[in-house]
Amino acid sequence: MIVRKSRGELDTMREGGRITAGCHAMLAENVRAGVTTAELDALADEYIRERGGTPEFKGYQGFPASICASPNSMIVHGIPGPYRLEEGDTISIDVGTRYGGFVTDSAWTYRVGEVSQEVEGLLNTTRECLAAATEQMAPGKRLGDVGHAIQSLAESRGYGVVRDLVSHGVGRKMHEDPQLPNYGDPGTGPRLLTGMVLAVEPMITLGTYEIHIDQKDGWSIYTADGSPAAHYEHTIAVTEDGPWVLTEA
Ligand code: MG
Ligand code: MG
Repeated sequence: MIVRKSRGELDTMREGGRITAGCHAMLAENVRAGVTTAELDALADEYIRERGGTPEFKGYQGFPASICASPNSMIVHGIPGPYRLEEGDTISIDVGTRYGGFVTDSAWTYRVGEVSQEVEGLLNTTRECLAAATEQMAPGKRLGDVGHAIQSLAESRGYGVVRDLVSHGVGRKMHEDPQLPNYGDPGTGPRLLTGMVLAVEPMITLGTYEIHIDQKDGWSIYTADGSPAAHYEHTIAVTEDGPWVLTEA
């Protein structure tokens, strides 16, 4: 069942979204060669709690940390730890904040210094995919329109669109209906209605769309071919006035 949010609930989610956005702004200043992902996790945890939020990921199905930190060919769900960022790395950081009873969810892929031209293109395209998807978040559009916007742009440039991980509804729970594949056919799927809120998160790769789950930690998800991946996510509400990006600065 897709739960639609009232205007007052969206206002609360926007307040929480500002914490999530601020956390990313803080992380952007701290991502650099030599920092460990555990240090970034501690900074994010403190940032969110100081502002009255709770890191939603901590304890979620047993997840041990407050952010997900996924370098290079890791797509999502990386557990922060002793890994020290190196010049030329990318690091997808995913932040989820619970505030006022609602969750906002946003991810960004950061460059550690200079990255290769190839990877630069991948990151830029993935951001463009999120922007293209955001434009589709209007009343009367369908879920397939959103997925298609991502898939058509990414595949036109030769990138892989991860199939086994999806965008999703978000609200009182981090994962609500509907599930939204980052691919699809225009004009298909449920219609978007005012008050729906989706965490739209294209996951795009330089190679295959197939994934590999690390059996040792049970969380980390990599590209199956080891190619670099990029991941950007915003929590976006459908309103009469168009898409409302709740996790923007
Ligand atoms: Mg997320
Ligand atoms: Mg999400």
